[in-house]
Amino acid sequence: MAGKLTAVNPIANAEQAVRADNTGNPDPRTALVLFSGGQDSTACLAWALARYARVETIAFDYGQRHRIELDCRLTVREQLARQFPAWGTKLGDDHLLDLALLGQISDTALTDARAIEMQANGLPNTFVPGRNLLFLTLAATVAYRRGASVLVGGMCETDYSGYPDCRDNTLKAQQVALSLGLDAPMTIETPLMFLDKAATWRLAEQLGGTALVQLTVEHTHTCYLGERGVLHPWGHGCGECPACELRARGWAAYRKDERQGRA
Ligand SMILES: [Zn+2]
Repeated sequence: MAGKLTAVNPIANAEQAVRADNTGNPDPRTALVLFSGGQDSTACLAWALARYARVETIAFDYGQRHRIELDCRLTVREQLARQFPAWGTKLGDDHLLDLALLGQISDTALTDARAIEMQANGLPNTFVPGRNLLFLTLAATVAYRRGASVLVGGMCETDYSGYPDCRDNTLKAQQVALSLGLDAPMTIETPLMFLDKAATWRLAEQLGGTALVQLTVEHTHTCYLGERGVLHPWGHGCGECPACELRARGWAAYRKDERQGRA
């Protein structure tokens, strides 16, 4: 598949993602995290809380079928602040932007009641063209007004579904465009860019131990169909949609690595 990358060493990448700024002093900048309440953006929020002096969150309500994700995000914020008090002191305001217009200009499985399937162009029909570009632009306008100069997003090339606006080069180009367009430095950080799903679980463990892993299992939401259902070892969800399969597969690989590491 065009643009599909093979992870060189996702475990080493996860360790590097934690270690990169492990000086003991928080980065004095304010970060705005694109936080949907899913596993990936929860790892990004924890990563930002471990690194920056102040962190705010933003999400977009565009009539997606899995609205439950938006409900989960407040619970995840509360749990992070309660279980990790040092992070709680850094966690600032949350912003939820109404993007109903996205439903008017897109025609996808996320907003319509239709099956998720691959299209002739090789992308799943969950793809909303340019969605991340739009999200980041809107986030940048909020960040600018809030005095934040870092945007953090869970975009990822490793397990991604082929979305061209998740690619590292796309985001680097947007970082330049935003910084020029705002006439102010705006850094886009994507700590998951070269991690696979198993490494994302490991990143959570490295950032917040088993407590953060368990918080992620219990309170985050990833299922495309919006089902909470029973609590699987990897979390809630239908267990059959592509998002659940990816999450379950990543969990299994993470646990296997854990067992081998401890052996
Ligand atoms: Zn599912």
